Amino acid sequence: MIRFPAYLATKTNGVQSINKTELTEHDLMDGDVTVKVEYSALNYKDGLAMTNSAPIIRRYPLVPGIDFAGTVIESTHDRFNPGDRVVLNGCGVGESHSGGFAGLARVNSDWLVHLPDSISTRQAMAIGTAGFTAMLCILALEQHGLTPADGHILVTGAAGGVGSVAVAILNKLAYPVSATTGRLQESDYLKSLGASEVMDRASFADKAKPLAKERWAGAVDVAGGNTLANVLSQIKRGGAVAACGLAESMELPTTVAPFILRGVTLYGIDSVMCPMQKRLTAWQRLDADLDKDLLESLSTEIRFDDLPQASSAIINGQIRGRTIVKLPQ
Ligand code: NDP
Repeated sequence: MIRFPAYLATKTNGVQSINKTELTEHDLMDGDVTVKVEYSALNYKDGLAMTNSAPIIRRYPLVPGIDFAGTVIESTHDRFNPGDRVVLNGCGVGESHSGGFAGLARVNSDWLVHLPDSISTRQAMAIGTAGFTAMLCILALEQHGLTPADGHILVTGAAGGVGSVAVAILNKLAYPVSATTGRLQESDYLKSLGASEVMDRASFADKAKPLAKERWAGAVDVAGGNTLANVLSQIKRGGAVAACGLAESMELPTTVAPFILRGVTLYGIDSVMCPMQKRLTAWQRLDADLDKDLLESLSTEIRFDDLPQASSAIINGQIRGRTIVKLPQ
C-alpha cells in the first residue's frame, strides 16, 4: 500500500479546516493517470483556499493545490506512459478534484500536458498557474496584433506571480514594459526582470476618469477594481488589456468610453478551463520565451510544511514572484 503526505480539506458543521495528514492510494480520486507529484506551487487562489478566505474548495474531503508537476506512475490512457513528465494547471483541480498538495494525484488525462524536454518539473512549478496565465495574457495581446513598436505594455501587481512572469516574458519579446507595484522597495527586482519604469500602484487607486491621457499600447492586469478602470482609461487608441485577476477587487467601476471612443478591447483570461490546444501553445511559448535564469531569480522554494504560513503571506501581498512547493520524496 502506497502512503503519501497530503493536506486535506474537510468540512464539519459548515466550517472548513485543512490539515496535514497521510493518505493512501485508496484515497485517490477517479482518473486514468496517476502522477507522483514532485513539485506544486503556491498561487493566489491556493492562498484563498488554504486560509479559507474565499469558497475555492467545492467538495470535501479534498486535497487543495491548483497545479502540480511530476512523473506518471500509472496510466490506462494511451497518450501517457509511466515515466512521462507532466504538468497540470487548473481544470478544477484543487477546487472540485483533489490537487497538488499531496505526494500522489490521480486525474483525468484530458487535463495533463507533457512537459517540454527543456523544462524541469521544478521549473514547471516556478512557472505554475500564475506564469501560465501570464503567457495566456501575452498571447491575447499578440493575437490582438500588438507589437513592441506600438509602445509600452503596463503590468499591474508586478511584484506578484503573474506580474513577475509577465514582465520577464514581455521584456524577452522586446516590448517596453512598465510596472505598477505597491512595493516600491521591489523596484530593483522589477527592473532586473525587465521593467523600464516602475510606478506606485497608489497612482491607479482613485476612481477613474472615463478617459485619461493615452499612455499604454496594452496591459496585463491582475488587480481589477479602480486599477483596471484607470488602466482602461489610459490605453492608446486601438489597444488592448488582458485582465486575469481580482487582487484589488472583483468590481470594475469603468464606463464604456475607452471601448467606444478609443476602440480599446478588454480580453478576459481564464486559465482554469483553457482549451488543450492553447495549453500546449502556452507551454511551448513559455519554453521559448521565458529566460530560465530570470525564472529562477523570481522564484522561492518552500517546504511542504511551510504551506500554511506561506498561504497567509500571499493573501497579505507579502510574497514576491513565484513560490515553488517541494513535495517530500
Ligand atoms: P500574487 O499574490 O502573487 O500577486 C498579486 C499581486 O497583486 C500582489 O503581489 C500585489 O502586487 C498586487 N496587489 C495586491 N493587492 C492589491 C491591491 N489592493 N491593488 C492593486 N494590486 C494589488 O497572485 P498571483 O500572481 O498568483 O495572482 C494574481 C491575480 O490573478 C489573483 O487575483 C489571481 O486570483 C488571479 N489569477 C487568475 C487566473 C485566471 O485564470 N484568470 C490564474 C492565476 C491567477 P504588488 O505588490 O506588486 O503591488
